[in-house]
Amino acid sequence: MATPPGRKSRRAQRSFEDDAKALLLEMIPIPGRSGEEGDVLALVRQKLLEAGLPEAALQTDSAHRRSPRGGQTGNLIVKLPGTRRGPRRLLMAHLDTVPLCVGVRPVQKGQFLRPQDRTTALGGDNRAGASVVLHTACEIVRKQLPHPPVTFLWTVQEEVGLLGARHVSLSKLGRPQLCFNWDGGDPNLLIVGATGDYNIEIEVEGIASHAGAHPEDGVSAIAIASLAIARLVQDGWHGLIEKGDDVGTANVGVIEGGEATNVVTPSVRVRAEARSHDPKFRKRIVAEIRKAFVEAARQVKNSQGRTGRVRFQADLKYESFRLSTAEPCVQAATAAIETLGLEPELRICNGGLDANWMTAHGLPTVTLGCGQQGIHTVKEKLHIPSYLTACRIALRLATGTEREAMP
Ligand SMILES: [Zn+2]
Repeated sequence: MATPPGRKSRRAQRSFEDDAKALLLEMIPIPGRSGEEGDVLALVRQKLLEAGLPEAALQTDSAHRRSPRGGQTGNLIVKLPGTRRGPRRLLMAHLDTVPLCVGVRPVQKGQFLRPQDRTTALGGDNRAGASVVLHTACEIVRKQLPHPPVTFLWTVQEEVGLLGARHVSLSKLGRPQLCFNWDGGDPNLLIVGATGDYNIEIEVEGIASHAGAHPEDGVSAIAIASLAIARLVQDGWHGLIEKGDDVGTANVGVIEGGEATNVVTPSVRVRAEARSHDPKFRKRIVAEIRKAFVEAARQVKNSQGRTGRVRFQADLKYESFRLSTAEPCVQAATAAIETLGLEPELRICNGGLDANWMTAHGLPTVTLGCGQQGIHTVKEKLHIPSYLTACRIALRLATGTEREAMP
């Protein structure tokens, strides 16, 4: 990655980089599955206080109390008044990592940070993002850099359905107008849209009977579920779904049920999801899944003509969004990337991001990368120069200097 143009001394440049890297190396090994962010949040607090932030500027919200999963802590928020005027900016990243990251020992190999043991992921998703935001906040406080009003936000429980961002205390954020989120990919990427996702829970109820003595009395819940899933596959409503111009995905990801082969299975629990950028088509996918199960339940009868039944529940995990290129956060992020000599690339993604909920809350949020690769796997690695570039981009965005050469 290119180093930013500017007249900064080599020494200052090096200390910026050393500092950012040292912070990352401290952040990565701390366990912090979703709901267990207490330790990593404590480190973020400690670093901010060491940089000179007054304790009173640190707030946590009660997102964990509104989250169905509970959790150790809410989101961490630092809201700074501006030293000069301008619309408030918000920089954010999620703190939690997937369970596969617990116990990671990071090592540097060439330009990459990798897990030393091939049994854990790295957790660059999203400790790299959290470090970008933390390093930026510390730089501003420590060096007393001039800046417009700015809010820093570290969210919890992103990996389990964007719960921290979903339940964030909006009143504590100070009405930001330009919001930036760091989570995944190269530093020149701007994620300006993401898909929406339904979580689907299906309980199939059949009728138990002895599978050898009286199979004709039973209604197999497994048979019902199988017929339904087979139909979804045959009719093109499972996996990648393309119907004319409409595109989406569906996946039956969990199926549980049955205890013995000598019993006609009385119940099966199925969990599935449906995604599409188009809310109408997403609802259609959900409706097709429901129809397949309801019809399959009608089809399987016992000798008395009785059928099983289906309880179907679909909850919107997050809504899709699409930012216009004229959105101030997109314009500012584009300028920051260009000022550092990189080519901005706009992207739409098929996963959920904290930005989905922020945008749904009325805070349009662009998501930028910081060098994560192969996330959620033991092959995860982090491109260190990209992380450092992300730190420079973030500092410009926080200080409102995205259109200026660095002093
Ligand atoms: Zn992430």
